[in-house]
Amino acid sequence: MSRETGRLGDSLATLKSRNSITHDSEMGAFMFGKKSVETLVVGAGPCGMLAALTLADAGNDVAIVDSAPRACTSSNSAILHPSTLKVLERMGMVERLIEAGYRIEKIDIYDGISHRDTLNLSELPIAFPYALSIPQSELELFLEDELEQAGIRVLWNHRVSEYQEEEGELNVTVDRYSERDTGYAVSHTERVIVKSLHFKAKTMIAADGYNSILRRIAGVEPTPLGDNQYFVSFEFETDRDPKHTYLLSFKDDLATAQHPMEGGIARLQFQFSGLTLPSSNREKDRSFLQDKSSLPDYLDEKHFNELLKSRVPWRTGYINRLRYRAAIPFVKRYLKKPRSGNVLFLGDSARSFGPLGSLSLNLGIQEAEQLAKTILETADEPQYRDERFDQICQKMVDTWKQLANLDEFAVPGEMAEPWISKNRGKILRALPATGDTLERLANQAFIHINTQEFSQI
Ligand SMILES: Cc1cc2nc3c(=O)[nH]c(=O)nc-3n(C[C@H](O)[C@H](O)[C@H](O)COP(=O)(O)OP(=O)(O)OC[C@H]3O[C@@H](n4cnc5c(N)ncnc54)[C@H](O)[C@@H]3O)c2cc1C
Repeated sequence: MSRETGRLGDSLATLKSRNSITHDSEMGAFMFGKKSVETLVVGAGPCGMLAALTLADAGNDVAIVDSAPRACTSSNSAILHPSTLKVLERMGMVERLIEAGYRIEKIDIYDGISHRDTLNLSELPIAFPYALSIPQSELELFLEDELEQAGIRVLWNHRVSEYQEEEGELNVTVDRYSERDTGYAVSHTERVIVKSLHFKAKTMIAADGYNSILRRIAGVEPTPLGDNQYFVSFEFETDRDPKHTYLLSFKDDLATAQHPMEGGIARLQFQFSGLTLPSSNREKDRSFLQDKSSLPDYLDEKHFNELLKSRVPWRTGYINRLRYRAAIPFVKRYLKKPRSGNVLFLGDSARSFGPLGSLSLNLGIQEAEQLAKTILETADEPQYRDERFDQICQKMVDTWKQLANLDEFAVPGEMAEPWISKNRGKILRALPATGDTLERLANQAFIHINTQEFSQI
């Protein structure tokens, strides 16, 4: 990679301030002057941006649109796995990310209140023997900054509303939005379509997230990938030294996980059974302040303190203040074929897992690189496109199914601790690791993942 690195501070500050205002007017001409591109990436989440970046770096004519006014503003999926750091190293951005994040070097595992095992990432003979805790909001700003350096500006406020595929070419309708003040006594802005634009693309990457519209337009239905999960997350300032440790406990089959973040912040996640949450909870935050007046009871401090007493076996230290809270449903599902003609589904639009260990985000970033490379490799060999697209899609689907069935693919050895053996599926799925790192961590607990069959992407 030839792009210059190392001027992150200034450029991120610029992006942050630009993202705090609506900025669509200058952008219309940016892409649409051309009326057509080789690849259109729909969705500027981490997966879409990583795909766009890989394509742009190789000289592919790519554009990226997002219906939202700016990148997300909360932590959401906040851990990058060692294998993902390898991808980001190839993109030339890993050093700056590592500087901004917090390293997770070991994982303490509890059965209720009893400590059962410690797994050490720091002992593994791998390029990055740690996972990196970094808020998704920061990661998205990093990626947006990298795209800018590569000459690609994310077109915020541009929503794909329709597409048709004719003779191998995609005709896409993109609605451009603007925010306007309604003039009510209470400050209120609403989003209005200012223009519908039409243009063409050879390939479209549908990275439009959990509630994907492109999935609906293409008429592809996801299939369940396991039981749905419900989580409540809290972030707080604490004086406890986290010692680079990810803490994980299972009680009555429900997980509690705490991971440290940079700046003395900790993030605690509690799994619930059957808590019904509105689907809007899966929308990413775009505002800079959380409106505490509208938070439901189960996110208040009283409930948080009850959860600390009943579910948390480790010391949290003095908790200064709760700075973020959210309740999120995770429906586990996948597309049997994450492709419809020349539209390739990527990230949460293609499949979703539970939140522990940030599996969805990490798989998505790794898959984004692979998918983009396949587009590049077949650009001059259109006769192989279908075959290669199908191959990569099949590989992705195999990986998802295996990760969702780790009980089956992970075999405990004689030395494995009985409780760990019994719970190996859910423990392994909650670790901040994918690929060979996951296999090596499993080995530390005397669990063998069948690598011959376990063909991770
Ligand atoms: C509150 C919250 C907390 C979360 N916590 C965790 C967690 O703890 N662990 C975990 O693993 N995951 C968590 N997630 C999920 C995690 O954020 C996703 O897995 C990750 O964002 C997926 O990235 P993506 O690029 O696939 O999609 P997204 O990041 O969802 O990006 C999709 C983008 O597409 C845009 N878009 C949608 N429709 C259109 C359209 N028609 N036209 C143009 N653009 C469109 C959206 O605006 C969005 O920016 C959380 C999510 C939320 C909302």
